[in-house]
Amino acid sequence: MDKGSFGRKDRLLKEERHDTYQPREKLPEPSRCDSCGALFVNGRWTWNDPPEHARSVTCSACRRMADHYPAGTIELLGTFLIDHHDEIRNLILNTEKQEKQERPMERIMNIVEEQGQTVVTTTGVHLARRIGDALARSYQGDLSVHYGEAEKSVRVRWQRQ
Ligand SMILES: [Zn+2]
Repeated sequence: MDKGSFGRKDRLLKEERHDTYQPREKLPEPSRCDSCGALFVNGRWTWNDPPEHARSVTCSACRRMADHYPAGTIELLGTFLIDHHDEIRNLILNTEKQEKQERPMERIMNIVEEQGQTVVTTTGVHLARRIGDALARSYQGDLSVHYGEAEKSVRVRWQRQ
């Protein structure tokens, strides 16, 4: 098998996997996620109280968490991180809090700090982008944002020495 066909196969597998988080058929309304309690109504996810007859589902954010399959990754690099550890962490968590309130499918999955580098993973691309923007707005530094195919994934990198 040559290199080209390997690449193609890899891409096809990835696309299939992405699709599992984007149901082809519309969810029935109202539907409520058993894991987190988010409610799907009027074509969007909300934190509204569920009516009694809501159907039980598992939302895409909870499925991504269970599968350890993030949509967004933010890498933070540079010595600035060391001296501003707590405030940067608070900025990230506050950004999630606001975003999640407006868009229940946008959540932080994990924050891993090791060897002077922090990696944050998210269930949605909006939140990853928003965290990158918040870092650049508050602390300047260098921000880069790379979207994957059809903007279903994003890789954000922020660096300040
Ligand atoms: Zn859920």
